[in-house]
Amino acid sequence: MGSMSESVPVALSNELQQKYAEERDKRLRGDGLGQFIDPANSKELRHFIDDPWVDHQTLNCQDSPLKDGSHCKFLILGAGYGGLLFAVRLIEAGFKADDVRFVDCAGGFGGTWYWNRYPGLMCDVESSIYMPLLEETGYKPRHRYAYGEELREHANRIAEKWSLNDKALFRSHVKTMDWDDNGKHWKTRIIQNRGPQQEPVSMQVHADFTILVSGFLNKPQVPKIPGFEEFEGHIFHTARWDYKYTEGSPGDASLTGLKDKRVGIIGTGATSIQVVPELAKWSQQLYVFQRTPSSVDVRNQSLITSDQWRKEIAGKKGWQVARARNYNSQISNAPIGADLFGDAFTTRPALSGLTGGPGKGLVTPDRAAEHVASLHALDVERSEGVRSRVNQIVQNQATAEKLKAWYPAWCKRPCAHDDYLPAFNQPQVQLIDTEGKGVQRLTKKGVVVSNKEYELDLLVFGTGFRSPAAGSGSPGYRADVAVTGRNGLSLDEKWIENGVTTLHGIATHGFPNMFFTNTAQTGFSMNHVFVLDMIAKHVAYIVDQATKKAGGVKVVVEVTEDAEEKWADEVIKRAPWFGSLTTCTPGVLNNEGEMLKEVDPKEQRKKARAAVWGEGVASYERVLDEWRERSKLTGMVLTV
Ligand code: FAD
Ligand code: NDP
Repeated sequence: MGSMSESVPVALSNELQQKYAEERDKRLRGDGLGQFIDPANSKELRHFIDDPWVDHQTLNCQDSPLKDGSHCKFLILGAGYGGLLFAVRLIEAGFKADDVRFVDCAGGFGGTWYWNRYPGLMCDVESSIYMPLLEETGYKPRHRYAYGEELREHANRIAEKWSLNDKALFRSHVKTMDWDDNGKHWKTRIIQNRGPQQEPVSMQVHADFTILVSGFLNKPQVPKIPGFEEFEGHIFHTARWDYKYTEGSPGDASLTGLKDKRVGIIGTGATSIQVVPELAKWSQQLYVFQRTPSSVDVRNQSLITSDQWRKEIAGKKGWQVARARNYNSQISNAPIGADLFGDAFTTRPALSGLTGGPGKGLVTPDRAAEHVASLHALDVERSEGVRSRVNQIVQNQATAEKLKAWYPAWCKRPCAHDDYLPAFNQPQVQLIDTEGKGVQRLTKKGVVVSNKEYELDLLVFGTGFRSPAAGSGSPGYRADVAVTGRNGLSLDEKWIENGVTTLHGIATHGFPNMFFTNTAQTGFSMNHVFVLDMIAKHVAYIVDQATKKAGGVKVVVEVTEDAEEKWADEVIKRAPWFGSLTTCTPGVLNNEGEMLKEVDPKEQRKKARAAVWGEGVASYERVLDEWRERSKLTGMVLTV
């Protein structure tokens, strides 16, 4: 886990610039985010998102932590790592576990790690900093990069330790949230699915505070490919792996059911990079349908020994936050100390094009081109290295060429895997490159690309999740919840009219006692859990202070309009940093190319409000710390 040698900046050559532009241009398309279907809105595909893991029988026998008419202090939407961190930080601030209730569509804790159980699933950020609350739970992860089951078990460990096990209403969808000014609480309508042959239960519950922690990779999506209804083979999305069909289980990737099967997988993003090696081991024939190749670097998985844990990682009190800050500093190209990770992310300082960073001060429009050039200079040699890794590993050089990523580090989430590229050396594995166009159509028997049909028994969709920028992009929309604040104000309408409007990315005027996690106007790290925890601590502080200032009685906290506009101005000031994304191939990070469209200055300003904090996550953390140190809850109004 040592540091890598420093690379010398190399300017982007004209040839490379041209190649990047060609590869981008051939992928640009008019429909942007509209190219995908949300299975929830499609009669034919609705079953695609059914919960394969829920145990209705057991859950039906348990006492319900919420019933029609129940009242709680904190209602947390989402029982993933984020929701759990909010609960823990509130408990640490002095509130009781019994003040907390979770509601989640899932049948258990874990969020991302509940839903995603595909073979090969693991985190890309070192477990020592990705898994939350390791110091508090005293848990040592088994591997340097934890596998899915361990990540899910850890969510249960946290729930157990903080007595939250019986505080969650599972398999329950929050539908609406309405602020009640008379009762000074949120009225929340929930529909609980109790399983086959059982009537769903509808309930309305009241909460003093609501916290939306719905995640941003929570709604599986599929591309609008003609012929969907014709395909007669088996089909599912990676976020709902069907082990009944493939055999094996989340803890045992022996996919023996595929031994006589022709399998196809659409997509070559971070998920498919992990799935392909597992499918390759078991399928009779595997076709990997690629639109844009991922950049796949070295993984270097290893076991963590107890000795190593004690001596190198978890020695001193406060080690986890310190280590996570070291990581953040490396990916923001503002290192504090030696790189403690030496991994595919921390050794790519050009990733700061995606995460933000202090750089040489704020990027002003006159410095935009120089800024992008300096990011390329950080990137060229490293990206060339990843491309030459493909030639070293993949024996068929025509296939190797097609597997090379022709864009810089900040354009698509880089991947790290040691078995993905070698999979293409196996005779039963074939890369079907679509030349940036995507799969043409489905037929009764399979998939068509460049007018050639590939017959399949199983087609797996590794086509990702609804973009957090889809629809209004509001925290309500992301959770599929209609949120109505004071005076009937709709959260979606506020977002559509003004663009993103928050203080610190976590709360908005007109929606008192509501907090949320967001992908806009907050800091961003490749280690998302760090950001979730930072925001959870911030919100726990606000609620605690507000309650104390109110003398312990029921309090209403609300952001002022002035404060949220000032915050938007600060975000906009820092947004030119992300000019880097406009040069990219379309993908999730630039809203499938929608960011590249020319718009008038008013619309441009609205779009800039949706940026993350351009100076990097450490700067965002500092701003929040300083705000708390002033201990005045500046920009918030309290009423009792
Ligand atoms: P989630 O874990 O998504 O939990 C949100 C929960 O809200 C879900 O369980 C959902 O069912 C529930 N929900 C949503 N809407 C409603 C509603 N209306 N009613 C009731 N419940 C609702 N990040 C990293 O930093 N490093 C990684 O290595 C990494 N690997 C990843 C791998 C995969 C396959 C995926 C999909 C994501 C990965 N991420 C990674 C991102 C990951 O999502 C976050 O790190 C983190 O786990 C998000 O936690 P969360 O609690 O905010 O959201
Ligand atoms: P992505 O959105 O990253 O990838 C979707 C893939 O589907 C892309 O390769 C995309 O191509 C392809 N695709 C979409 N439409 C078509 C089409 N019509 N024809 C052919 N291909 C198509 O989803 P993932 O699930 O892979 O990852 C989502 C996010 O989850 C990641 O960004 C990451 O944040 C997280 N994740 C993290 C992991 C980790 O860290 N351990 C593991 C897995 C996921 P194109 O690139 O051209 O758009």
